[in-house]
This record gives sequence, structure tokens and C-alpha cells, in this order.
Amino acid sequence: MATASEAPPKTESVKQKRVVFVVGGPGSGKGTQCDLISRDFGVPFFSTGDLIRSLIASGCPEGKQLQDIILQGQIIPSEVTVGLLQKAMASATSDTVLIDGFPRNTENRTVWQSQVGYDCELVLLFDCPEEVMVERLRRRAEGRADDNEETIKKRVQNFKSQMAPVLDYYRAIGKVTTISTDRPVDDIYSELSSLWRQRFAASPV
Ligand code: UDP
Ligand code: MG
Repeated sequence: MATASEAPPKTESVKQKRVVFVVGGPGSGKGTQCDLISRDFGVPFFSTGDLIRSLIASGCPEGKQLQDIILQGQIIPSEVTVGLLQKAMASATSDTVLIDGFPRNTENRTVWQSQVGYDCELVLLFDCPEEVMVERLRRRAEGRADDNEETIKKRVQNFKSQMAPVLDYYRAIGKVTTISTDRPVDDIYSELSSLWRQRFAASPV
């Protein structure tokens, strides 16, 4: 009979990365700030929403179903999202990666942990009043099908209800850093970039 010591470790071939989750309501500024960090510190960043939208645009068989979920402001099955993130991360040579817009609920978090095999190092929470986020989404005109009044309302609601337990979990283990994002882009970035420098002891490239 094989003993535990003979069994190869499950995550043997997985090279662990330093993963930073950037979370916050829709319109809280995640994508804008991730772009800047990525540019200045050379950290690859993956927008979960963009990965899902590309998958749908590729014409995959489950595309219609995924698009319906997005239009309802709901969260797509975690296995799909985590699979997309794993694939994207596999191509990153950097030890540190930024993930924008994930996790969105407890299922996302637990499936990440079991499928990827390790947890994030830090959760950056973008804190922004609801009315400011909604106003930004109304104005942003990126042509996204889910930027309509009805879907926006559901996205905000789901963020509030489904992220609360995720944030409780990460706060309890001291992984959450909150940044107030009801400010101009440059103000937010000045705080975020100095936080990044301190935390990861890196200078802009
Ligand atoms: N989404 C999801 N799981 C994720 C990330 C996004 O199901 O991990 C879906 C969800 O329906 C969300 C939509 O994709 O409302 C758009 O996500 P994105 O992060 O682009 O929106 P944002 O919060 O930046 O407005
Ligand atoms: Mg975004």
C-alpha cells in the first residue's frame, strides 16, 4: 500500500506566484489603477471581466449562457473563471501578478484555493460610495452590454451581499488593505503606488 510520503505532492509542479487580488464594486476604479501599477512596476495584470468577455467573443459553446449571467449582474461558475485565470497566469513570467475583479463571492474564493492550490498574498479593496460608482458607470460609455441601469443596480447589490463574507474571511487573516477611491485618478494612484513600493520594495521601472 502506498504511504503518504510516497505520494507526490498535489501542487508539486505549480510554481507559486505572489498574487494580489484587486476587488471593489463596479466602477470603483480597479481597471484604471491596475493599468498604472502594471505600467510602472512591470507587474502583469489580468482583468477577470476582460478574460470572460474574450471567451464569450471567441464564440465558445457556453457563450450565450455566460452572457446571460453577466446581463443579470450575476457571477459565472467559478471553475470557468479560475480556469481562465490559471491559463492567463501560466504565460506570465513575473513572480507577482495582479488580478482585477476576482474573487466575487465565497465560491470563487474556495474554488481558487482548491484549483490553484494556494491563496493570494494581498487583497486590495477599492472603497467607493455607491452613488459615485453608479455615476461613473453611467458615464463611461465603453459600450458594455452590462452598463445599463438595471444591470448596474444588480451588480452593485451583488457586490455588497456576496463580497461581505469574502472580505470578512480575508480581514480575519490580515490580508485586506483598503483604499478610498472616491478621488481623482492621480490622487488614488499616488497612495496606491507608494503602498505598492513599501509593500513589495520595488521601484517603478
Ligand atoms: N464576472 C464574473 N466573475 C468574475 C469577474 C466578473 O462572473 O470573477 C462577471 C460578472 O457578471 C460581472 C461582469 O463579469 O458583473 C463584469 O466584470 P468586470 O470585473 O469587468 O466588471 P466591473 O466590476 O469592473 O465593472
Ligand atoms: Mg473592470
